[in-house]
This record gives sequence, structure tokens and C-alpha cells, in this order.
Amino acid sequence: MRLEFTSFSSRMLLYNFLLFLAACSAVATPQNYADSNQDDTFLDDDAGDLDVSDPEETDFNREVVHGWHEGEDLQLFLSDTDSESESTDDDYDGSVTKAANHGDMGGSSEGTDSEQEEADVWTEEMLEEDGFIPVYSESTGDTDIPEGRQNMFVRLLTMLLLVWQTLFKVSDNAVHSLLLAFKLFIQVVGNAYGADSIVGLSGAIPASLHTLRKCIGLDRNNFVRFVVCPKCMTRYTMEEAYDTKRNGSKVSRKCEFVPFYSHPHRRSELRHKCGTVLMKKMKSVKGDEYMYPKSTYCYKSVVESLQILVRRSGFQEMCERWRERSDYCNGMADVYDGKVWQEFQHVNGTPFLAEPNNLAFMANCDWYQPFKHSEYSVGVLYLVVLNLPREERFKEENMIVVGLIPGPKEPKLNINTFLEPLVEELQDLWKGVLLTDNSRLGEQLYRAALICLSSDIPAARKCGGFVGHGALRGCSKCLRTFTRTRFRTKADYSGFDRTTLIPRVSADHVRFAKMARRAKTKAERKRIEDQYGARWSELFRLPYYDAVRSVVIDPMHNLLLGTAKHVFKVWVELGVLDKKAFDVIQSRIDSMKVPRDVGRIPRKIASGFSGFTADQWKNWTCVFSLFCLKGLIDSNQYEMWSEFVLACRLLCSREILYDNLAIADYHLRKFLSMFAELCGARHCTPNMHLHLHLKECIEDFGPVYSFWCFSFERYNGMLGKYQHNNRNIEVQIMRKFQQYKQLSLISWPGGYEESFKHALMERKVSCASATTTSRFLPDVLVLDNSSHVEPLPPFRKTVISEDVRSMLLGMYHTVYPGTDIEHLDLFSMSCTRVRCNGVTLSVNTCRSERSACVHAHWCCSNPGSEEPTVDPNTEDRPAVLREVILVHLVLGNGRRCSHAVARVTWYEYHPQRWFYGRGIPVQVWGLSFEPESPASFIPVERLAGRSVASTSVVQFGRMEERVNVIVPLCTIAE
Ligand SMILES: [Zn+2]
Ligand SMILES: [Zn+2]
Repeated sequence: MRLEFTSFSSRMLLYNFLLFLAACSAVATPQNYADSNQDDTFLDDDAGDLDVSDPEETDFNREVVHGWHEGEDLQLFLSDTDSESESTDDDYDGSVTKAANHGDMGGSSEGTDSEQEEADVWTEEMLEEDGFIPVYSESTGDTDIPEGRQNMFVRLLTMLLLVWQTLFKVSDNAVHSLLLAFKLFIQVVGNAYGADSIVGLSGAIPASLHTLRKCIGLDRNNFVRFVVCPKCMTRYTMEEAYDTKRNGSKVSRKCEFVPFYSHPHRRSELRHKCGTVLMKKMKSVKGDEYMYPKSTYCYKSVVESLQILVRRSGFQEMCERWRERSDYCNGMADVYDGKVWQEFQHVNGTPFLAEPNNLAFMANCDWYQPFKHSEYSVGVLYLVVLNLPREERFKEENMIVVGLIPGPKEPKLNINTFLEPLVEELQDLWKGVLLTDNSRLGEQLYRAALICLSSDIPAARKCGGFVGHGALRGCSKCLRTFTRTRFRTKADYSGFDRTTLIPRVSADHVRFAKMARRAKTKAERKRIEDQYGARWSELFRLPYYDAVRSVVIDPMHNLLLGTAKHVFKVWVELGVLDKKAFDVIQSRIDSMKVPRDVGRIPRKIASGFSGFTADQWKNWTCVFSLFCLKGLIDSNQYEMWSEFVLACRLLCSREILYDNLAIADYHLRKFLSMFAELCGARHCTPNMHLHLHLKECIEDFGPVYSFWCFSFERYNGMLGKYQHNNRNIEVQIMRKFQQYKQLSLISWPGGYEESFKHALMERKVSCASATTTSRFLPDVLVLDNSSHVEPLPPFRKTVISEDVRSMLLGMYHTVYPGTDIEHLDLFSMSCTRVRCNGVTLSVNTCRSERSACVHAHWCCSNPGSEEPTVDPNTEDRPAVLREVILVHLVLGNGRRCSHAVARVTWYEYHPQRWFYGRGIPVQVWGLSFEPESPASFIPVERLAGRSVASTSVVQFGRMEERVNVIVPLCTIAE
């Protein structure tokens, strides 16, 4: 996977470099052109002998030739590039030391830093770019690049390298060596063609990334670095963290935080200053002393980030697009249909979302581990602009990274120290700030509010001012107490009667939290926190913030990583599933034909589902489990699990009807009561209690796709891909991110933007996320499905036979009775793949036949009649997609139109169709197919979706029979 990726990025780079050379040659002087033409023979003669008469160049050539012949320099250089993968491993080793240093509180661990590390990595340039503070000298002057040497090509090459680096998350070291290689290569080319201008260009190319970035005015350090006390997490500005002595040298200050000023015991430690030293000293290669924070919080101003966003063309328009959506009265399609969005239209009588330029944010806070084999965790605080269309808002370029919370560990109780700068900015944003944009005025007043906090449960509690889920009042939505019979035993989380729950009220919660904050002793604070389950959060300072409703329960963690995983664990523990069952499950999964993009369950089920990702739990639950578990577990347990699966299939959809939300809630509650009965109260978890509150979260914020953490998880994966070494990991990640943001704003020189970007983005475009056009299409006859359906190449010319023609016309007459079809072209095109509502369907004959199983309400087999008939109101049935025909029609009014029609074969009924249970999304169908009829032709937009099929032997009572087992994919997988 990784290899594939790398080879792809290098191919892209090569292509771009050729483009770059083409650009260079196109602008090269005619004289150079002539030179190069003349010299063609010279090149062919002897490419190795680069000796030219010009003395200056000869010198240079000797050097180069020397290098190539001796193989020394080249060898050195090559080993630099080649060892890239190894060097990441080295980085890892270094990271361990670094991680240890971060945790260190003594501040005397310099000696333990390996000498090699210092010699390799800590050069003055890097240190100063990192913002390290020289202990004695004042900051040195910058190495400026002379204006004259800055030509277009250098900037072009800079953009090329840096954009490539950010797109494919390549390490600085790799780009640096590539830069040197390019420099050398251009020199070689210039010499070979005897072109002074090209040799000159090589000389103008900076030899360091630092200077390269300066060429295009890139400032990766435009964020704030706070110094954080590694012991108590108190935050200081850089200037607050050191003193300057009379002789000009600088010394670190100590942390001055006092935990409890008015602690009743005068001699209590808590009345005294924390006293931890904030900065560390280190020496550079030259032996100069530098100071740097033991722990750094990187914070990027939200207003500045917003400024970048609103200046981007099209951003404002995208933010207003939600107003044009058609009303969705029976259900919810996005966050805009939720109650909270409606309530924020007007706040205290003044219009907020009801007017343009007012934005609503969703915040997410998550910890991830940047080093593969080390426990070091970095927290990331993001904001998402909910006004953006759903397919836009989670894109990397549209998300706002607010802060990187330093490791090595997650803070235990709260993250107020990191939220504080954000809250201050949010307060300004609520009043309104002037931002420069593309409007006619040049600037406008923008306002913003944080309306939603979506994180995994522990992070949500830390951000939102709640106690952990294991506490007495461990629910963030209600005041239910979870008592323990004895100290250190598990609390009882059963009792799933919603009517007995007393909901939390925001105002009360904030009041309790204030009490806890004012407490004079640690014990008193703990008592208040325990009693009310409330803790202070800086977010409570926001005037509009609802402490209870804003904190959503993330369905990904709650349902999939929570309960789905837990039930499996309990089954193993209770002996419901044994080792033999795992093997059967594995073979059943292997028999299923699953569309490639749905993702398979890894072949390690036998190991007990350990290490499944959220995506895999989602597929297991919604697609595989009911088919795989049939007959392997007790039928009561199967019934219980079916309730859970049915709920998940309904809830985990892009759009949800109010009726389905109520049904899903019913299934969930049924599952909960069955679980408590079958598996025992002691196995109930806090997650299960939270299921009771999922419905209200969805009512508040719309379908789960608008707020669940899947979107962030992927983002964290991307952040993890950034290459970095062990120095100052938080700073590095933040800088990489700043580089990305700024590059998107800098225009390419010389009008080459289009061609280069196109070349670099090829892959990015091809794997763009599925659009989320509504699945619910209008019932009106539109004989033109071009807006939702996109037939994919290659296309094949085909002639429609007389039989097919009459069946097609038969279908049109039944489905569109009012439409007069004048003519149907016999010559048409067909293809094997078609994209419909963001899902790619492939026909059975092409390579990806796994996407060939579809289902639709269309085919009706009448008893007594041989041929099935078309009926769009009949029940849902599975079929195999055989061909996609682009039918050209002339309608009665003379209008021509093309229509993508799927040719399918319908599975025949099987008497055991409901063997898995009525209403269960696993059905048994026959091995043979219905005969071809007008019903075999169905407009592509009428297909309801894809299915997963397995041809396998099923035990029906005493009889064994080979049948087709079909599981329709729910919208979640689509
Ligand atoms: Zn401290
Ligand atoms: Zn509750």
C-alpha cells in the first residue's frame, strides 16, 4: 500500500519535472535553442565526456565529472535518498528519547541526548526557524536571497516541490535531497547543451528548503507557540517563560501557578507555586546555547484561518449554498434539518444564521500517536465550518486546525488551558470581526459560533466540562446515577427505561461547574464534581453555548467501536461463540462478493476481531454479521443482535426519515433490554446507556453523517502521514499544516498553474469523495438522468436488436405512460460502469463484478404468467447488472434525449427467502434467474443500490441446499 503510494508520487514528480523542463525550454532564448540543437550530436557522441572549452565551466565540469566518476559524491547523495525509509525508523528511535525528554521534569537530561542526534539535526538554521531562543546572542540576521536571482523558474520549481511535498506528505529531508539533485541535474543539462542560462538557473536555485520557502514568501511559522508547564499545564507566552539578565543572557522562569490560593491549610503544598522550570537549554553544532520550551502548545488564530478561507474564491458562495436546498419535510438530510441549526437562525431575537456571513462551527478534539511504536500522543483541536456543503466541509483545505496539544500524554481532567485562546477568539467572533474577502466592499463583518462538539467520549468530556463516563453521574445528557455495590467494582449501567431519566439542564450544569471551580481544596472540588458530574470548561464563557446539547454522542464510537465490539467480547466471554465458530464465520465472509470500495473484513477473524477499525466494525455490523452468525449462536442472541443491526442500518445513513429514526430508536431499546436479560446487567456499559440519548442528538444535529467522527478519523490518519523527525513534533506538524494552507493561496508564476496543478492533482481528483446528492429522486417523469447518472468509459458501439427494442418500449410505456416516444435509435452505446448518486456500479462481466449485484423496486413476478412485469411499487428484489445501454430517444414533442438504462437479470424467488428472519436484511434467493422481459430494463436512477451476494450451501432444517444469499448494502456502505 505504502509502496504503491510512493511509486505513484514519484511518477507524479517525474511528470511534473518534465513539465518544468518543458516550461524552461519554452522560455529559453532562441540562441540557447540553437545551441542545444547543434549539440545534439555532441550528446550522442559521448555523454560521459562533458569537457567544454570554457574555462569557468570546465572547472565546474571537473567537479561534477569527478563526482560521477569517483562515485563518492553521488554515492553519498544516493544513499541519502535511498535511506529515506530507514531514516524514518531512525526518527522513531530518536522519538523515544524525545518523548522521554518531554516527560522529564528535572530538565537536566541534555547529557542523555545522543551526540549523533545533536550533530545531525540541531543546526543553527533549523533551531532559529524552530523559534529557539539563543541564550547569549541576539537573533542573527536572516539569509536573504538576492532579488536578481529570484527568477520565475526558481519560484516554479519551489511551488512544484512544495506542493508535491504537501500532497504526498514527503519528509523535509527527502525534499531537500531532491532539491539538490534537481540543482545538479539542471547544471548537468545546462553544461551538456552548453547553455549558460540553464547553468545560471541551477546556480540560482537555493540549496536549502529554508531559502526555498522564502522565495515564494511562505511563512510556516505564523502561529503562536505557547510554553506549557509540563507539570500543571499552565500556559505562558514565550516572553513570559524566560528572564533576561543584566549581561544579556537568558534564563528560564519557573511556573508560578498556584493550585489553590485560599487553601485552608497554610502549609499545604497546594498554596504554593508549582515551581517547574519551563525552558530547557541545549547546544547547537557550533556550540551556541539555545533555550526551548519543555512543552509547546501550537495555536493558530481562528480569525486568521478564517481570513484565509474567506479570501479563497468560491468559499463564501459555498457557505450560502445550504439556503437553496429544498425543504425536506419527512426527515433530515443534513445538519441544517436539525433543531439546533433552526434555533441558531435567530439568537435572542437577532438574526444569526438567518443572515449571510454568519458561520457555525463544529469542534473536534482527538489524540493520535504520530510515532508508530511509541506511546507519545498529540492532541489536535479542529473546527469545521458547518455552513459548507457536507462534501466540502471535511476536506483538508476547509478544516481549521486550531491547536496541537503537546504530549506525551492526554491531559487527565480538562483541556481548559488549551481552550482558553480559542474561547477568547470565539467571543470576538460572536460580536463580529472584519475580514477581507472577495466581495465588492473588499471586507465584511463576519460572525461565528461554536454550536457542536463531536469527539470520542473521553475527549468530549474533557472539552465540554463533564466528569468521565465511569463516574457516579457519568452521563453527559442526564442526571442518572450509576452506583457501585462495592468500592472498585463495576457500576450497574442497566436500566434502560428512558422515562425515568432526568435530563441535564445547561444553566444548572454551568452553575455546578462554577462551584467546582471556586472550591478551596482539592477534596472539595472533587466532592462537587462527583455530586453533580460537572467540571469547569472555558467553553462555558461563550454566551450562546449550551453545555448539554452541544456535546454530541459520537455514533461511530458509541455504536460501532463501543457496543458492536463489546457484544462480541461478551459472546466470547460467555462462550456464545467458540473457536470453531470463528472458522465458519471466516469461510462465510470469504464467500461474499463485496464491492471493492466497501472494504473487506481482514482475514484475521479467527483472532477474535482484534484491531478492527471503525470502518470494519461498521461493515461487520451492517453487512456481514447476520449472514455469518446464523446458526452459530443461540437464536435468542441472534434475535438480540438483529435488533442492533437493524438500528445501525437505519441510523448510519446519509439521510434519515423521522419515521426511521423512531424505528431505529425502538430497535435500539429492544436490543438493550434483551441484552440486559440475556447477558446480564453486569455486562452493560456506559455506551449502552448513551444509546438512549442518540435519538435526541440526531434530532439536534441531523443524520449521523453530519457530525460523526469518521470524517475526523480519516483526517487524523492524514496528519499521521506527515513525515517528521523527532524534534518538536507539535511544532513540525503545525508547520506542515501551515505550509499546506498557504500554498493553496499562492499562485504559480508564469501562468503554469493549470498544467502543473492538473498533473499533481490527477490522483487527488480521481479519489475525490463521493458526492452526496439526494438519493430520493423526484417521482415526476424526467427522461433525462444526466444530472444523477454518469456512464463511465470505455464506451462500445452497439446495435439494439428488435427484441430488445420492443422490450425497452414496453418498459417505457409502462413506466412513463404519458410520454409519447416517437423514435428509439437502433444505434447506441453501451458501457460496463456507471456512477449513480456517488456510487459506481459495474456489470458482471467486467473485472469488478463484485459491484454487479444491485437491487430495486421494479420487477414483479405474477403467479400464472410466465414473464415478470414492471412495477415500480413492488417489493425490493436483487438482480445482476449485465450491461448499461445509453438509449437515444426522440420524444413526441421532438425533443431528443439520452437515457442510461441498466439491463439486469432478476434472481428467482426461493421458498426459504425469509430463512434469516422477516424484515432481516439477509435474504435467500434462487440460483436461477427470471426470463428476460421489459422488467429486465431499468433506468439506472431507479436502482435502489448495491447488494452483497454469496452463493453458498445453507442448512435449512435437515436439508442442505445451494442458494444465493443476498444482503442489500444500506446507505452507510454506499
Ligand atoms: Zn506548573
Ligand atoms: Zn443519560
